[in-house]
Amino acid sequence: LMKVALVGIGKIALDQHVPALAASPDWELAAAVSRHGTVAGVEAFTGIGDMLAARPDIPVVSLCLPPVPRFEAAAAALRAGRHVMLEKPPGASLSEVHELQAIARDRGVTLFATWHSREAHAVAAARRWLAGRRIDQGHITWREDVRKWHPGQDWIFQAGGMGVFDPGINALSILTHILPRPVHLTAAELDFPANRDAPIAARLSMTQGISADFDFRQTGPQTWDMEFLTDAGHLALRMGGNLLEIDGQPAGGADTIMGEYPALYARMAELLRDGASDVDLSPMVLVADAFTLGRRLTVEPFAF
Ligand code: NAP
Repeated sequence: LMKVALVGIGKIALDQHVPALAASPDWELAAAVSRHGTVAGVEAFTGIGDMLAARPDIPVVSLCLPPVPRFEAAAAALRAGRHVMLEKPPGASLSEVHELQAIARDRGVTLFATWHSREAHAVAAARRWLAGRRIDQGHITWREDVRKWHPGQDWIFQAGGMGVFDPGINALSILTHILPRPVHLTAAELDFPANRDAPIAARLSMTQGISADFDFRQTGPQTWDMEFLTDAGHLALRMGGNLLEIDGQPAGGADTIMGEYPALYARMAELLRDGASDVDLSPMVLVADAFTLGRRLTVEPFAF
């Protein structure tokens, strides 16, 4: 059993990380670090420094903090010689993740920037199907209700919280994984609520005829879909990459997101066995480019 400490006991830690670790034959949740949150039956710390000093027997730290406070915690864990898993997005900026990579290399430890959506049930099959095909057109629709999925999470609308790119980057993590050739951003429009510092909606244009529509204001049915028209057929991924359709017919996957986090911890175990790191920043480059190139529009103020 590999011991892991979980840092930032909030929504994703409790919804996904704790159950995935409990069900895994490889992992033992040995400590929880959070100012307010706890996990029943697990030793609790309120600061990462205390945990690192008190528990040298825990080799792996998994960080579930929002992106802005994550860097300091990640750097402290790496400097203390621990292997680190980062929730997505891996940081609030590209350069801070580059710095984490340098620290990990220097200490000879593993750094894994996770992208849970890449582990969705139909993503590997979509990647295999698209290999060798030419993309003529693609469209991503990622529209969800921020009040349902991020209740009261003010950090998401603060600078560095990324706003609608917090879920949108999941779509981009799938996109950058399944495309046979890399894309880049050509234009974007970002809708900022008048009272917030991060966008509530965004529309992106990319090369290969690919566009994206991200919106946090969706009530009713929620949509996490992407569709591609290729030189040899039509592919759709629905339910955040979990269901596959080829030429309009169901072609596999499973209607649940519950496989994603077990797959991330299995991958971390593999990286540790191989002494390797896995940090792919391509989804975050698209987001950074959207902030760089994007036209900014002001929309109605938002309150949770
Ligand atoms: P969250 O519920 O707000 O939890 C994060 C925890 O981090 C908080 O409970 C808080 O615990 C701690 N924290 C430390 N410094 C903080 C600060 N300055 N501001 C806010 N919280 C701080 O957020 P979450 O939904 O779990 O998201 C965390 C990360 O997971 C994000 O990067 C997000 O993209 C990713 N994620 C979220 C979801 C989802 O559906 N919500 C899905 C996949 C991935 P203490 O107050 O106890 O310290």
